[in-house]
Amino acid sequence: MREMPTRGGWIEVICGSMFSGKSEELMRRLRRAQIARQRVAVFKPLLDNRYHATDVVSHDGTRLAARPVDTSAEILRLVGDAAVVGIDEAQFFDTNIVDVALRLADDGKRVVVAALDMDFKNEPFGPVPGLLAVSEFVDKLQAICQVCAGPATRTQRLIGGRPASPDEPVIRVGAQESYEPRCRECHQLPVARPSLDLAESALEGALTATVVDIGRARRETVGTR
Ligand SMILES: [Zn+2]
Repeated sequence: MREMPTRGGWIEVICGSMFSGKSEELMRRLRRAQIARQRVAVFKPLLDNRYHATDVVSHDGTRLAARPVDTSAEILRLVGDAAVVGIDEAQFFDTNIVDVALRLADDGKRVVVAALDMDFKNEPFGPVPGLLAVSEFVDKLQAICQVCAGPATRTQRLIGGRPASPDEPVIRVGAQESYEPRCRECHQLPVARPSLDLAESALEGALTATVVDIGRARRETVGTR
């Protein structure tokens, strides 16, 4: 049972994998605040220029005017008298976003944050662990696993349709990069580049051959006695 504070501000974080509906949920909460005639301000990092430069756009195409900002400090400068502050794609902000969210909440504002909790390597994403720790409320949303149709908590990175390894360069020329939600069981993270695997198996082959040769040499030695 969730009890919302009746006085003072607070922080709520909506997290999960890609395609889990974080932006939709952020917008749903902000729209309800607007309907309740509360002043709403929405921010997102400038580098997230998917689809549109000035709106928070979700995958279902609905939008709400958002202000792209370069740094988290700009949010404090631009927030004005908004009672509700939305922050989308918070994983791409600098670590100072945690202090910014705290400052806003301490000032009596309701702060609603949407963020990817893990990157494609399943590692905690940038400043998000800090935001989760200082927030009053956390909702972890799930997508649908594109392999088994179960609940998905991970983001699978694919390059040319194949699972990307952790040391894969961010941009690979001529290869189509894509992401899809997957569950723990179906998420794949090759441990090393394929070329390294080949080198390792070649080395293993050479070692096996040596052992065989030693064995044969030993048998031959025993045979001559
Ligand atoms: Zn699955």
